[in-house]
Amino acid sequence: MTEHYDVIIIGSGAGGGTLAHTLAASGKRILLLERGDFLPRELENWEPKPVFVAGRYISPDTWFDRDGKQFQPQVHYFVGGATKLYGAALYRLRPGDFEEIKHVNGISPAWPLSYGDFEPWYSRAERLYQVHGADGEDPTEGPRSEPYPWPAVSHEPRIQQICDDLAKGGYHPFHAPCGILLNEADRPRSTCIRCATCDGYPCLVHAKADAEVIAVRPLLGRDNVTLLTGAEVTRLETDDAGRTVTGVVVSRDGNREVYQADIVAVSAGAANSAKILLNSASDRHPGGLANGSDQVGRNYMFHNCKAIVALAKEKNDTVFQKTLGINDFYFATKDYQWPMGNIQMIGKSNAEAMRGEQPEKTMFAPEWTLSDVAEHAVDFWLTTEDLPVPENRVTTDQDGRVHLAYSSTNDEEADHLYGELKKILNHTGMAAHHVLRKNFYMDMSIPVAGCAHQAGTCRFGTDPATSVLDVNCKAHELDNLYVVDTSFFPSIGAVNPALTAMANALRVGEHLLGRMA
Ligand SMILES: Cc1cc2nc3c(=O)[nH]c(=O)nc-3n(C[C@H](O)[C@H](O)[C@H](O)COP(=O)(O)OP(=O)(O)OC[C@H]3O[C@@H](n4cnc5c(N)ncnc54)[C@H](O)[C@@H]3O)c2cc1C
Ligand code: SF4
Repeated sequence: MTEHYDVIIIGSGAGGGTLAHTLAASGKRILLLERGDFLPRELENWEPKPVFVAGRYISPDTWFDRDGKQFQPQVHYFVGGATKLYGAALYRLRPGDFEEIKHVNGISPAWPLSYGDFEPWYSRAERLYQVHGADGEDPTEGPRSEPYPWPAVSHEPRIQQICDDLAKGGYHPFHAPCGILLNEADRPRSTCIRCATCDGYPCLVHAKADAEVIAVRPLLGRDNVTLLTGAEVTRLETDDAGRTVTGVVVSRDGNREVYQADIVAVSAGAANSAKILLNSASDRHPGGLANGSDQVGRNYMFHNCKAIVALAKEKNDTVFQKTLGINDFYFATKDYQWPMGNIQMIGKSNAEAMRGEQPEKTMFAPEWTLSDVAEHAVDFWLTTEDLPVPENRVTTDQDGRVHLAYSSTNDEEADHLYGELKKILNHTGMAAHHVLRKNFYMDMSIPVAGCAHQAGTCRFGTDPATSVLDVNCKAHELDNLYVVDTSFFPSIGAVNPALTAMANALRVGEHLLGRMA
């Protein structure tokens, strides 16, 4: 079967879903190919055990690490991609992230575009994804042309207390930017009910501003948009000159199907986009499609993260905890010459989820049951930038399967950030309990399988020798091939990546609309 479209988009997550959304109004014929299905709406969406212990929404894919050892990557194949499970912390990169930054283990390179170039797209993405936030609280944030479209999600009392204590200690806690469809001024009519099962869970009531709910679902009735689910793209074919993608090969229901379009946008997530290009090697592109630079799959980043649980004697009865961020250590400080990164809250611990994440660590709570631990826990997420290292890369084997070689960078900075968090907690009234109860922290470093923040395998740039994509995210070596997901990141900063992928999809969408006009 061969059908022709104006644009084919491969993958319906933050990049692909947002791109489809912005192109749809043009009336152009768009085919959205998604390997997964709609995420089922079921009670398990909000149950910790199926989500965190059984991994109900994690793909059964097998990938291989540097040593050829197989693992199950934490990737999510659904309409909406990883955003179906995300925490919806929708941060802009800091202006400095677009510049070169020196780290303890090397250089985070400058982007070919500045924060100023991205700013209007960030504003549009924040409007589309209904981001809640408060201007002017975070000392590292860049200038904004528009205020946040929604007021910040309020702190619950325990988090407000931590925020106040931190401010008294001279820090600058801020309301974390968040994409949930919450109307606190009119709770009875709010789509979001502000529940405890948000970060890492799908939203049963479709109140999370994910790429399915916000970008793809509104397109389903349109005549010019076709969504095919269960459609795994396996290969891209080109004309004899190797300059134009002429066929998108799909495996669906066990059949091979081929689709055609004037423009093809790969948005399968950083690892899978690289996989598709590498598996599309041909005589004209022997090292993989668009890979004359040998950069496809390289520079894989996914943040140097730590999940930390701080325990205090008093209970933490917060329901929706992900409301506070701290960027006082984002860049170098007077006491430490390297950037450390971002501190934010994550979803509130509960006993079942903790058991699933790191069972052996729970033995550190000899006097408390796991439920006691969870009740008292205050949960933090520490993010340090990892560097785009060429050896950290996705390759594929003869069978087309993903091999992911990754070694962390900037561990020293990440450890310093952890040290700063401990100092910070002394200002939050936990110090006394620390003495009383031997207050402790549980550190859950993320293994290679935790590839939630994957980015960087097809970086954009001005030099075809060192980048895969040009500044419009078109492959240097092809005339109609784009990559529009987190693959394009030349560096990842130390804040969550989704808003940048969304903003970039809007930016590239505008370029494509101009090109097709
Ligand atoms: C648990 C979790 C929490 C997170 N929390 C946050 C957060 O709070 N804030 C934040 O900014 N980011 C967060 N992230 C990361 C964020 O979700 C990703 O950065 C973002 O979704 C990446 O967008 P993408 O378009 O690159 O890929 P994705 O959103 O993953 O989309 C890729 C899509 O391509 C499809 N696909 C893959 N291969 C193929 C193929 N061969 N053919 C067809 N389709 C294919 C996939 O099924 C998927 O739908 C989180 C992620 C996870 C998993
Ligand atoms: S907090 Fe709101 S958006 Fe998140 S899962 Fe609950 S209802 Fe959905």
